[in-house]
Order: sequence, then C-alpha cells, then structure tokens
Amino acid sequence: MKKELIKQNYYQSVNNSWLEQAVIPSDQPTISAFIELHLGIEKTLMDLAKKWELDPTGLNENLKKFIKLYQMTKDFDKRNELGVKPFNVVLNKIKGLKNLKDFEQAFKDLTLESIETPFSVGVSQDFMNSNIQVLYFGASSLYLPDTSYYKDETTKAQLIGLFSQTTSALLKLYGFSDEETSKLLTEALAFDALLVPVTKSSVEAADYVKTYNPVKNEDVRKQVKNFNLMDQAEGLVKQEVDQLIVMNLDFLNAFDTIINETNFKLIKSWMIVTNAIGFASDLSDEIRIAGGAFSRALAGIQEAQSQEKSAFYQAYNKFSQVVGLYYGETYFGPVAKEDVKKMVHEMIGVYEERISHNDWLNEATKQRALKKLNNLSVHVGYPDELPPHYDRFKVGSYDKGSNLILERLSMNRIVNEENFMKFNKAPNKNLWEMPASMVNAYYNPLNNQIVFPAAILQRPYYSLEQTPSENYGGIGAVMAHEISHAFDNNGAKFDENGSLFNWWTEKDLEAFNTKAQDMIKLFDGVETGYGQCNGQLTVSENIADSGGLRCALEASKKDNSHNYDEFFKNWARVWRQKSSKEYNQLLLTVDVHGPSILRANLQLSNLPEFQKFYQIEETDAMFLPKEKMVSIW
Ligand SMILES: [Zn+2]
Repeated sequence: MKKELIKQNYYQSVNNSWLEQAVIPSDQPTISAFIELHLGIEKTLMDLAKKWELDPTGLNENLKKFIKLYQMTKDFDKRNELGVKPFNVVLNKIKGLKNLKDFEQAFKDLTLESIETPFSVGVSQDFMNSNIQVLYFGASSLYLPDTSYYKDETTKAQLIGLFSQTTSALLKLYGFSDEETSKLLTEALAFDALLVPVTKSSVEAADYVKTYNPVKNEDVRKQVKNFNLMDQAEGLVKQEVDQLIVMNLDFLNAFDTIINETNFKLIKSWMIVTNAIGFASDLSDEIRIAGGAFSRALAGIQEAQSQEKSAFYQAYNKFSQVVGLYYGETYFGPVAKEDVKKMVHEMIGVYEERISHNDWLNEATKQRALKKLNNLSVHVGYPDELPPHYDRFKVGSYDKGSNLILERLSMNRIVNEENFMKFNKAPNKNLWEMPASMVNAYYNPLNNQIVFPAAILQRPYYSLEQTPSENYGGIGAVMAHEISHAFDNNGAKFDENGSLFNWWTEKDLEAFNTKAQDMIKLFDGVETGYGQCNGQLTVSENIADSGGLRCALEASKKDNSHNYDEFFKNWARVWRQKSSKEYNQLLLTVDVHGPSILRANLQLSNLPEFQKFYQIEETDAMFLPKEKMVSIW
C-alpha cells in the first residue's frame, strides 16, 4: 500500500506491489484478479482431467465422453500424422459449390455443422415476449475486431497486412500453392471489405435493443431476391416462419448487392479462408499454432498455449457445463450455495430500500422497478440442470476412423438441431449461459435473472476469511452490479418478465436518460495511460458499476463491523489488471466494460463517502466536484 498515492491514484496505491510483481503469462494477453482465479481453476480442472484419464471409474457418462474426447485432443502424434486431411471434409463442401444456387442448397447442412457462411440464422428468446423463442438473422463478423479499424487508413493497412501475413502462412500449411494462397486472400479480403459498411461498430452493437428488428416473411422475400432465405429458414426449423428478427438491417437491405452471382467467387474464397482459420485448432500442432497467430498478435499474446493446455481446452470447451457442474458441486457445494444466495437476497433488499427512497422517480415508476426487483431470479454456484445436448453427444476414436473435425461437426449438428427445435417454444429458464467453472457473473434481461457461477465466489471477491467489509467491496459489489444491469440503459427497457416494454413514465424516462448521458460524459475521453475511454461504449457497465458500488456500500454500512478503508481497498483490489499494450488498446475499442483503472478510481471519485473518508481535496487527482457526480441507483 502506497499511502502517499491514496488521493492521487487510489488504484495504484492499493495495488502498487501487485502491479510491480505481477507477470502476464506468456499465453495470455493480461493478468488480473479474474485471471488469477481462472488460472487456479484451470490447474484444478487439468489435474482432474489427467486423473480421470487414468481412472474413469465412477464418472458420469458425460464426463466419460469428455475424457474420451480429451484422449483424442491430446494425441498430437496422431494429429500430426493426419495433418490437414481431416479438413478436407469441410473444404470439399465449400469447393463443391459452383454458384449461389449450390450455396443455397447447401446452406442447411453448412448451418447445422456450423461451417462459417457470410450470414446465419439461429433460435433465441423473443425480446417482445421472452416466453417464446424466435428466429434471428445475422451477418458474419469482420476480420478486424471493429469497424473503426477500417476507418483509419494507417491502422487498417497495418492490421490487414498482419492478417495477410499470418493467414498466408497458415494457408500454405494447408497445402495451398503460393498462387492459390494469394488469390484466396485477395478475394476473401475483398468480400470482407464489402461487409464493412453494413457492419455495426462495437459502440452501435452495445445498444443491443437495436439488434431487434422484426421483418415479416413476405418482406424478407421482397428484399432478398438472390437467395431464398425464408425457405432455408423454414427448412431449418421445419415449420412456417412468419418473421425474422434481423440483427442488422443494413446488411439485409444491402443483401442482394453483396450476395450475388458476380461476388460468388469472393464469397467462396472468404468461406475457405474463414473456415481454415476456424478449424485450425483441430489439426496438427503446427497448424493449430499458425491458426491463432493473428489473434495473438492483436492481443499482444507472446506465445500459443502449450499442447497440454490447448488439448485440455479443446475437450473442455465442448463439455464446459458438464465439467463446470462437477466443479461447482465438488468445490462449492450446497452449503455455500445457500449462504451466497442469502447474501444476494440481502443485496436485493438493500436495492429495494434504495429504490423506495429514490428522489428522482415518481411512485408509479418506483412500483414497476420494485416489481422487477421482486421478480428477479437468482442462480448461484452451479445450475440445477444442463442443456440436453450433452446426453446426445457421442465421442468416437481415431481407431474407428474419426478425427477432431468429424467430432466437432457431429457435436455442432446436435447442438444446432437442438437449437432449431426450440423455435416457437417456451425457453427453459433454468439453463445457464456460462459453466460454473467460469470466473464471471451475468444478468440476462430476457429472463430477468442473475447468475453467479461458483468460480467467482473466491478471494478476493468472497472469502469467510475476509472481513465483511472486504466481502461487500468484492462480491457484494459484483452482486449489486449484476442487479443494476436490470436497470442500466439496456436492461431498463425490459419489464419484470424479461420482455421489451416501456414501464417508465415519460418524465422519469427523460430523467433517467439525462443521468445516463451524464455517465457517458463522466467517462468519455478520460485518459487511461494507453488511450481514452469511450463513454458511449461503456455506459451500461459504468451504470452497473456505479449502482453496484453504492448499493454494496450501503449494505456494508449496515454491518456492525463496517470499515470504509477495507471496503474501498477491496473494491480497488478486484480491479487490478496488467495487460499488453495491444490488449489495452483492443479493449478500449471493443469492450463494453470500462478500463480497470477507471472502474477502480473514477467510480470511487464519484462517491461522496470516498471523498469524505480520505479527505480528498480539490487539488487531488481523485477529486471530483459535486456537480459532476452521477448517482443513478
Ligand atoms: Zn456487467
């Protein structure tokens, strides 16, 4: 602790020695409190996989399948011997497409196997009625992480150059000649360029309510002449489809000018290049490493994962919720589950009080907000059930002629068939989007549901060995952060049942929007040492952090042992992070979360209790004048 920095850079004062000593692992872009926990869990799970491989007795069927797949992923001798051969099944499907009509006929098969195509459909909950599931339509993403990278000519030239260089090397490993490689790359990039003007930027995509655009069946048919999208969609769900929810109208409106016979050769090359990158991780060691070169360079990662680690993750990623459930039940358990649930309900109670005493909402809006709060469903530790596709997975072996790509295609087919069968049906709101072994937490506005996987319920977030104030500054604030997402600029548009519905009075909504604008102003353009924060991109997370911090502080104050210093310190501690320069800059462009240093410092500056407790004065960097403070929840 560097006391002299408290008033100038609180984050630095608390984390000084950690920031000096922490080492970014060579296969990671960053090290943080999150990643430190993640690395601990990774070791536990990798040790388990090794142990289970030697003796799988007593494991449930799905864990046995995980181990069977792990045995395939770790057999690099076999993978190297097979070389690029397993990819031919994908390559031949793409190469066999002679024109747009062929592509249309193959679309269902390609979609079911998750072979990348320039656009896709999938079933998910309806924003307007979260109790039913509808068909969404979206376009593929760009090769560079954000549209802004294409706007600045220097950045674009540099990154496209890097992409070309790494992808050429990869395509050559796939056995393409120099001439073929150059043609594939030029055409794939030409198609990527066509997508740029009709792709949403990260800032635009952060306003996710705007990704909900219902377009009637007959209107899609009128708009899209070159590809029978509706027939394909109906074929996939085996039913009539009255509308598509279009995630990006610009793409649909430009569909025929992009997807047409003249461009077909570009589309085909784009599919070959995109899938060569996407399937590289399932092939020989050399191709696996080359396939990740561009994303490693973008994030400033020093080297690829070791064979051991990548083999584990390849199997784990397919069975993450199965392994996660084992992790949660074994290392967290039902007692902790109840204890933490109680804590969440305590935070909801404090939130209720805060909304009841809120001075800028009128009674009608308050009542709706309280109703939403009361309807919030809380999930802690590990889920009660898993998606059924795991039971349908079958894992083969090299001896029986299988390989990792065949395994992947067969699993993709099972998952996608299950997804399409959900069309027009009610969702199962018990299912989680994250494994219990993932260090994170989330709010799902469509289920009005918060989820805290077991993995995050550890030090420095939560520990019985920490003081209550430390726990409130850690997990308490995380809990209240997730609750706040129910009332951030996106979440506030959904009602207590998770459907899009404006439950606000006009005046209150105006007041809320003004406050959200103030939050944008508070963060926008603030220097981080590696670039400026984008206030618009990060507004929803900053609202959630601010609400979470205020609510957690209030809960802590109610505790007899409350200690401001411990509370603030742990808040700053959980945001400690050290990243490569490239990763810091990438996050500033694409991440909806504020930069860690601002999540710690600016959120604290924005708190009257912090200013008072440390006697921050006007001349101090941590000072924020009252008129600039933004308090929403
Ligand atoms: Zn969040």
